[in-house]
Amino acid sequence: MKIYVLCDMEGISCLNKMEQVKREMPDYIEGRELMSEDINNLVEALFNSGATEITVCDTHGGGGNINVSKMNPHAVYEVPNNGKMMPSLDKSYDGLVLFGHHAKAGTLNGFLDHTMDSSSWYEYSLNGKVMGEIGIESAYAGYFDVPVIMIQGDETTAQEAKELLGQELPCAIVKWGIGRNKAKCLSKTAAFEVVRKTVKEALLSIKNRKPFKPSFPAEIKVSYYRSDMADSASARHGIKRVDARTVGWTASDALEVTGV
Ligand SMILES: [Zn+2]
Repeated sequence: MKIYVLCDMEGISCLNKMEQVKREMPDYIEGRELMSEDINNLVEALFNSGATEITVCDTHGGGGNINVSKMNPHAVYEVPNNGKMMPSLDKSYDGLVLFGHHAKAGTLNGFLDHTMDSSSWYEYSLNGKVMGEIGIESAYAGYFDVPVIMIQGDETTAQEAKELLGQELPCAIVKWGIGRNKAKCLSKTAAFEVVRKTVKEALLSIKNRKPFKPSFPAEIKVSYYRSDMADSASARHGIKRVDARTVGWTASDALEVTGV
């Protein structure tokens, strides 16, 4: 069984403040250690539950958060590359784990809620449905017929994933947002146990998961906080101006769900 893990940072176990995900902050050192330990526990659980090949993509801020020399040897590790959010993902994988994830921009009590770029993106929609990174990444994996089999993050992340991908989706809830920038977290021991249990459930029920396949061609829209952000985005090839703050494009397939 071949499993791909897309690992962001905001939803990592025991990570409870914004400063831990910002490279320029001293607390980031703590954040990247938490991320490495959490991934190592996940990989061990996947391996013990029957995964035979595991690829982990370190995606937060373009990658480079984990120190590969300290990582669990049952997986291989990569980062996004040349515009590909999951470089090695192809049809040979049986499932995608969304690890360390967060809710879409504008989610009440979503810990560090945002969509793609927290400094400029206000809202993203695909065929009129507002989505966050969970939707974007699930659609991208759906292009390769790979279903999301599990998600980890705060409670609002789990709710968003279930609403989009089905109420039966195994979710490892390891924290609860207190406003946007703080979270109440399980202890490491408790969170790691939740992850292990969810992995077991995910691999046992993998046959029940379906790839997420919105209809294409699809109308994509991105609204920014300010109109000057849309000015520069709309200058790019293939991007049309919708209104002062919004640009859009037609995606011919799920590989084109992001483009600005
Ligand atoms: Zn992130």
